[in-house]
Amino acid sequence: MGQLLFLLLLVCSFSAISAHEDEDPSIKTMEEFSGYPVHEPHSSVPSSTSSLSVDAQSLQKQIDELSSFSDTPAPSVTRVLYTEKDVLARRYVKNLMGLAGLSVREDAVGNIFGRWDGHEPELAAVATGSHIDAIPYSGKYDGVVGVLGAIEAINVLKRSGFKPRRSLEVILFTSEEPTRYGISCLGSRLLAGSESLAKALKTTTDSQNISFLETAKSAGYAKDEDDLSSVFLKKGTYSAFVELHIEQGPILEEEGISIGIVTAIAAPASLKVEFEGNGGHAGAVLMPNRNDAGLAAAELALAVEKHVLESGSIDTVGTVGILELHPGAINSIPSKSHLEIDTRDIDENRRNQVIDKIHQSAIRISKTRGVKLSEFHIVNQDPPALSAEVVIKAMETATRELNLTSKLMISRAYHDSLFMARLSSMGMIFIPCYKGYSHKPEEFASIQDISNGVKVLALTLAKLSLQ
Ligand SMILES: [Zn+2]
Repeated sequence: MGQLLFLLLLVCSFSAISAHEDEDPSIKTMEEFSGYPVHEPHSSVPSSTSSLSVDAQSLQKQIDELSSFSDTPAPSVTRVLYTEKDVLARRYVKNLMGLAGLSVREDAVGNIFGRWDGHEPELAAVATGSHIDAIPYSGKYDGVVGVLGAIEAINVLKRSGFKPRRSLEVILFTSEEPTRYGISCLGSRLLAGSESLAKALKTTTDSQNISFLETAKSAGYAKDEDDLSSVFLKKGTYSAFVELHIEQGPILEEEGISIGIVTAIAAPASLKVEFEGNGGHAGAVLMPNRNDAGLAAAELALAVEKHVLESGSIDTVGTVGILELHPGAINSIPSKSHLEIDTRDIDENRRNQVIDKIHQSAIRISKTRGVKLSEFHIVNQDPPALSAEVVIKAMETATRELNLTSKLMISRAYHDSLFMARLSSMGMIFIPCYKGYSHKPEEFASIQDISNGVKVLALTLAKLSLQ
């Protein structure tokens, strides 16, 4: 009887061995993540996502801890580039990257990279990331979810036994917010190779007249170099980039949808316009004799609205956010007016046509009103970006496999992703946030929604890393 049992055991264990003889477990895991067979193109492999578990408790704790590196009291967060709190927060993130087993590198402006080598490390890596700087009196989720969430996505994949083919990198971008030096997405613009920015930063100062290079050096960056072109990355460094971010708008929450799959990022252009007239006494100068710079500005503001509406697309928007009159007295005809105009679209040509029309209107108005168009300056004109089909597909498949509801949407705010799109394929994952609030202390995203976003990010990275 004992012998029989022994024989049975031997047969069982032998058949178990032979059945798995030529199955590498890491290939099986890869197949599960990619949703398609790695070596046998014709057999279908069921995908399994049950192995993806987010450590929600730790992630929430990290978000709370990071928010304590702030120059204003909780619940507000103020974390400005290269301040003491920013440096401490960076140290905190680097430590988490290290704990996740990532090798950490920093560039001359403090973009931080945490890398997990794939088993074909010579291939272009897949990257993810966001920012941790926070404008004065803002909240603790903007950007942070895309950095701490990305590190947790790596942990999720590691715990599941996944082995990346392409290396995976988590990036913390320097100064997404323009708070200190008036330049938004400073780190990612430089990564994308902005020569003009690298040059401008040599002489840029903040409102206290402290130079960019000086503060960068005090934070431990740009050590012996004034030339920041070392930050530029080559096109092809990454095969894809995905950013996880709170929506900063109300749509997902209102519609009860878990995941927003971003198909395009609208980009702003901003204009400065000035008219000059003769001014004069509000009583003494009769109407036919006036050259009212204020009315020219008012007429141009209405023309901005008209040209934006003429585009025929809901995605074209325009705003006159600043309109100043000089001398600004009730009994004085404005002799000068100053407008600042923001116009955005996801279609660059359409947006540029609007700018052209605004320019034509400004010229026409200056003629008909007898005022001088003393300035028409395009301050910046960033091109919008479309998400790459391959990244959208990976995000959509991941969301479906995780049984989460999703919606295709446009990002009307812009992000580091806009500049990463110049280097590689790009996509963004949005999660709901309370009432769409952002850039204020009431900003909130539930840990459930954040965890869903982390899972979608993890699975998306896994799929992209195998392509
Ligand atoms: Zn952000």
